[in-house]
Amino acid sequence: MTNSEELWKEANKLFAGGVNSPVRAAVKPFPFFVERGKGAIIYTVEGKRLIDYVLGYGPLILGHSPDSVKEKLIKQLDKGWLFGTPSELEIELARKITSHIPSAQKVRFVNSGTEATMNAIRLARGYTKRSKILKFNGNYHGSHDYVLIEAGSAATEYSIPTSDGIPVEIIKTVEVCEFNDLDCVNSKLKKEDVAGVIVEPIMGNSGVILPEKEFLKGLRELTRTYNSLLIFDEVITGFRVSIGGAQTLYQIYPDITTLGKIIGGGLPIGAIAGKADIIDNFTPSGKVFNAGTFNANPLSMAAGIATIEELEKGYPYNIANKAAKAIVEELENIIKVKHTINHISSMFQIFFGVDNIKNYSDVKKANREYYMRLHELLLREGVFIPPSQYETIFTSASHDNDIVNETLYKFKKVISELM
Ligand SMILES: *Cc1c(COP(=O)(O)O)cnc(C)c1O
Repeated sequence: MTNSEELWKEANKLFAGGVNSPVRAAVKPFPFFVERGKGAIIYTVEGKRLIDYVLGYGPLILGHSPDSVKEKLIKQLDKGWLFGTPSELEIELARKITSHIPSAQKVRFVNSGTEATMNAIRLARGYTKRSKILKFNGNYHGSHDYVLIEAGSAATEYSIPTSDGIPVEIIKTVEVCEFNDLDCVNSKLKKEDVAGVIVEPIMGNSGVILPEKEFLKGLRELTRTYNSLLIFDEVITGFRVSIGGAQTLYQIYPDITTLGKIIGGGLPIGAIAGKADIIDNFTPSGKVFNAGTFNANPLSMAAGIATIEELEKGYPYNIANKAAKAIVEELENIIKVKHTINHISSMFQIFFGVDNIKNYSDVKKANREYYMRLHELLLREGVFIPPSQYETIFTSASHDNDIVNETLYKFKKVISELM
């Protein structure tokens, strides 16, 4: 079977909605099935070539199957891939994380960003002996019960909670404020017994939304005042917006940082990092339980180390950031209708029909049908941007000048058709 339509029919017999993660089904009329990827390019099973700006929804900052990561993985495959005992690789990757992420002294490796935030929340509760969590409207922290309340990527429409099957008792433990609204945070922290405030320091799951100047600083001060922990969910921003994440960029340091995506170099991973006296509360040294058969598995460790070794050379950021900047600047010239583009380093998103996006409620005012039409037209021309207004357009170290110029040529073509 070598075409996506046939595979899609089979997939629908086997998987709910034909997929194993919902956003994949947003590509219409059916998702293309990918055969392989190299650099900035993916090829579908039909052999169609696409320039990729989705990049696995964030992890692939070097592009697809970079030689450095591939070689390290092959070496590890020769040695074995699961031992159930510690390996030197986990020390190497943890050293890289603690040397680059300022607030990270110790690390616990898990298998996904979801596990990272779930355990970070348990850790905050165990450490403070409080039960409530404060999150922000449209922030996405993975797919477990405690964070599927007004969650970005997961919701296409306003919904509380974002999923069926979440007990009302759990919903009651989660307070929600609008991103960039410090007054709300102040009043919630004053009123409630909040164990931790969890935030995407730069929102990447409702499109891209930047924190206003005083927002992160305000969160840092308010959480200190009320003895609540500040948790930065840097699953997207960690090692992307700078090698030290958003906390380095803004010089605001949380108590706990959750990581994922890039630190696994494209293999499954998550991590909870923070001050030693907080992380030490995890079992076996402490009483906050966490365990995992695949925690710190050698293949994810190897891919993560190889990826960060490349990032340490600097060039990936130069190329990826330059690509995003060039595309955004040119789009500002060629898009003639009302719109706004939110952009930082190698991530951006376009919102039509609005001129300022500072929180999730603003995103809901954007013309999402227009965005989806842009996605469809670009796909026809061989450029893959996310099939959802609520995701981020990413560039990578493989998005060189030729790729950018080809992309802009195609953008110009479809924009004139769109308008
Ligand atoms: C992707 C993401 C997660 C969830 O990570 P998974 O590995 O998909 O479970 C959590 N938080 C943020 C900010 C993310 O972007």
